Amino acid sequence: MTADARHWNHVLIGAWERLHRFGANERALGLLQAVWPQPDPAQWSRASLGQRDACLFALHEALFGGRLQTTAACPACGERLESQLRVADLCGEPPRELPQPPAPQRLEYRDYRIEYRLPDSDDLRHLPPARGGEDALDAAVAALLRRCVLSAQRRGRELDADAPLPPALVERLCERMAQDDPLADLQLAVQCPACAHQWSAAFDIGAYLWEELDDWVQDLLSQVHALARHYAWSERDILDLSPVRRRFYLDLVQA
Ligand SMILES: [Zn+2]
Repeated sequence: MTADARHWNHVLIGAWERLHRFGANERALGLLQAVWPQPDPAQWSRASLGQRDACLFALHEALFGGRLQTTAACPACGERLESQLRVADLCGEPPRELPQPPAPQRLEYRDYRIEYRLPDSDDLRHLPPARGGEDALDAAVAALLRRCVLSAQRRGRELDADAPLPPALVERLCERMAQDDPLADLQLAVQCPACAHQWSAAFDIGAYLWEELDDWVQDLLSQVHALARHYAWSERDILDLSPVRRRFYLDLVQA
C-alpha cells in the first residue's frame, strides 16, 4: 500500500475516534479540518453552510465515490424507496479551493433595508437546544437572524438589534438566504412509485458522509480484530497492509 493510502487510513480512523462523541455539526467541521487542515480551524466554521456542504460532497466523492444511495419511507403509504443520487447532480462541480467566508448581502423590503450574512457552522453552535414543533422552529430562526442580521434600518433609521422583524420580512430574508446558499438546506423532490405521493425530503450530506465513514472504519477495525487475534500482528501493521493483502489473509483465517 502506498504511504499516502496508509496516511489517509490513520487520518480517517483518528478523526472517527475523536469525533464520535460529538453532534453532526462538530463532526462535519472536524472531518473537514482533519482532511484539509486550515492554519486557523475556525475558518471552516465561518464558511457558509452551503460552502461547507459543497466541501463535504467533494470529500464524499474523494473517499467513497460520487454516488449516494438513499432510502426513505413514503409518508402516505409506507412504501420503501431506494434511490441513487449523484454528487455531480446535487452540487455541480466540486469546489477547487477552500472557501472564503462570503461577503455580506443586502435586502431591501418595503421600508426596510437589511444587511445580513449567510449562516455558518458557528451560528448552528449557538442555536437554542432543539425541542421540536413550530415554536421551536420560529425560535431557531429568530436566534439565527439575531446573529446573521448585521444591521436593520427602517426608513433610514437604525433599528434596535433586539427588535423583532415583521414576519413577512423574516420570511423574505429566509428565502433570500436559501437562494444565496442553495446547498445549505438541500431538499430533494421525491415521488412515490406506488401511490404517486409527492414530497420534499431534506438531504444532509454531513450525516450521510459520517455514516459511510462509520461503516468503513468499523469494517476496517473488525478486520484488524480478526487478523490480530489469529496472527498477533499489531494494529498498525495490519492497517498498513494493502486492502488486497488484508483480504487475502482474512480469507485464509475465515476459511
Ligand atoms: Zn406511497
